[in-house]
Amino acid sequence: MRRPLAALVPLPALALAACGTPPEATVAPAPPMASASASAPPSASVATAPPAAPPQKLDTLKRADFNRLAGALFLPLYWTADTNKNDTLDPPELAVLWGFRGGPYAAEDAAWVDRDKGQFSSTFLFSYAKMVEAQGAKIDGPDAARRNLVLSELGQGRPTLVETDLRAFTPGEKRFVEIILEVAELTERIFQKQKGTWDMRLRVPKGSPESQTLFFRNQGPRCEAPLTQNEAACSAIPDAPKGRISGLYPLDMLSDAKFCDALSGHADKKTLTDPFTVVRRSPEGKPIGVPDTTAYADEMKPIAGLLAKAAEVIAPDPKEKALEKYLLAASKAFTDNDWAPADEAWTKMGVDNSRWYLRVGPDETYEEPCNTKALFHVSFALINQKSLKWQKKLDPLKIEMEKELAGLAGPPYTARNVSFKLPDFIDIVVNAGDSRSPFGGTIGQSLPNFGAVANEGRGRTVAMTNFYTDPDSMAALRETTESLFCKVTMATYTTDPEPQLMSTVLHEAAHNLGPAHQYKVAGKIDREVFGGPLASTFEELKAQTAALYLTDWLAGRKEITKEDADRAHVRDVVWSFGHISRGMYTETHAPKSYSHLAAIQLGHLMKEGVVTWNGGETAANGKDQGCFTVDLAKFAGAARSLMKEVAGIKGRGDKKAAEALVKRYVDCEADGKPHEACQKAQKVITERVLRQPKPSFFYSIRFK
Ligand SMILES: [Zn+2]
Repeated sequence: MRRPLAALVPLPALALAACGTPPEATVAPAPPMASASASAPPSASVATAPPAAPPQKLDTLKRADFNRLAGALFLPLYWTADTNKNDTLDPPELAVLWGFRGGPYAAEDAAWVDRDKGQFSSTFLFSYAKMVEAQGAKIDGPDAARRNLVLSELGQGRPTLVETDLRAFTPGEKRFVEIILEVAELTERIFQKQKGTWDMRLRVPKGSPESQTLFFRNQGPRCEAPLTQNEAACSAIPDAPKGRISGLYPLDMLSDAKFCDALSGHADKKTLTDPFTVVRRSPEGKPIGVPDTTAYADEMKPIAGLLAKAAEVIAPDPKEKALEKYLLAASKAFTDNDWAPADEAWTKMGVDNSRWYLRVGPDETYEEPCNTKALFHVSFALINQKSLKWQKKLDPLKIEMEKELAGLAGPPYTARNVSFKLPDFIDIVVNAGDSRSPFGGTIGQSLPNFGAVANEGRGRTVAMTNFYTDPDSMAALRETTESLFCKVTMATYTTDPEPQLMSTVLHEAAHNLGPAHQYKVAGKIDREVFGGPLASTFEELKAQTAALYLTDWLAGRKEITKEDADRAHVRDVVWSFGHISRGMYTETHAPKSYSHLAAIQLGHLMKEGVVTWNGGETAANGKDQGCFTVDLAKFAGAARSLMKEVAGIKGRGDKKAAEALVKRYVDCEADGKPHEACQKAQKVITERVLRQPKPSFFYSIRFK
């Protein structure tokens, strides 16, 4: 289970345009996205560019334009920061991005900049000139309408860098990282096969670099930004695929709106809805469950080999024994589809015994139509020692927190003997496959979701601490917040990451508290009681409401100050604005769990008079008419009443009450009539948040 942050980040919405042709290369371009394989490791050939007249001083492009144009031209480049404030791009300020395969040039650092000499390569200088040329140029030709939509889609994301500096690491550690990056690329291939998009990469037009960037960023052809997701023609490939796409089910099944129900009601439902299988048809046309290891053998076998190799590389390090064991166990799981031993090894790692955080395999089910199949991802990070403070504070309180939630849930739920681990803090190196979204990133996650480790509450939880902490993201978030809050509430807003971190810790901890996924009422787990999507929404709603409630509970016990609690509450309301702005449903009308929970929380807080819309007042930015205030004196009471309601619904398996909350606060319908205050709030939030592009994370790893 995870907690994403729908961040709100600005950049002037520039009219995007690019030249019609990609830079010419002396090496034939590889097919888009095609080179991720174990037999073609990242150290593939380095292209050389025709010599270009190098600009003497790279001061033509502003930083934001440089980063935007790199995307429009499918170049793996990012101007990190104008560190020396000379309005000029200097070699140390250039980052080369991970994962841009199939472009005209190699994606390796050395192709672009000579780090020893501190000089740009001729390939880079040539590309810079192309970017300058592309600025202000228009796309025309028969495919122009689609391509301009793609640029608009890209423009709704602000490229945001997640950079890891490994220069001080040992050669062994660097080699280990290189291997995991290969695993990450292969994992993206499995994920795209699960999504049903992998083969579509071949249809991305070669002369359309912005489409290649879109395909890479979104891991498929579809547009997913708010203003373009419903544009039928917005797609990385001409003749955009219509309707549901998925590689997990036979094509003919996908057009049937009720196919998920049909599978879960099937006599062979155990295999068909198993998280680690794919549904295919037998020669007689019957649906059958095929193990992932069979369906994705082309990727899973090489990954198993790479993980074993990584274990060998890390083996000489006496401080990484737990990691070595996990790598070997994961390697085996990639051959036999039995994930339990890998989970056992994984749960034994943590801040105390490894420098690295690594999770590789199938985990979350959010992004597939039936919410039952586990999707492949790699989450690879460095463990950050700062979590020790929260672990020491909250570890002794786990049992009491469980008693709190159990008390509020009421019968038939009774407090369990909980023994979960509190989150480790991690700084992400690379997220790949299902972990890498077009916009924003997961900021907290509890795994695994299945098997004994999950059922016995022995899983691990992490909070991602290096997302949204760059100065651009913080400034952007403040700007959006100032457009929504009145002056008085803005005074309690902070860009200090600490309150958000605490909230994330509590949210993730709460997935292990109260009635959770495996809790049974009348012999049924939540999925069986509520159905997949509603069960996901209510598990997330429980976790996030617990984050609100437990904040005051901690303040009451003097574990944190009242000011800490207030700042966290204001930050959590901003978090909910971000998710509301994403819209409540996907294009196929699947509910978005976090948007739903955010809308329910906001609706409840407004009903209780905590959050108020003041139509006559000017927002804190001095520009927008109408703004929200948060009455912090009433917050604790409202958080408690919502906690009681939500924990009770889950504890009793009360599907009717759950649906009623969704109807009232998500669909804004009360007593059969439109609920106007609800509609108005959602509309204003969406309009003001969407003025700013959302961050799209790109990763860069400095070896040299
Ligand atoms: Zn969650």
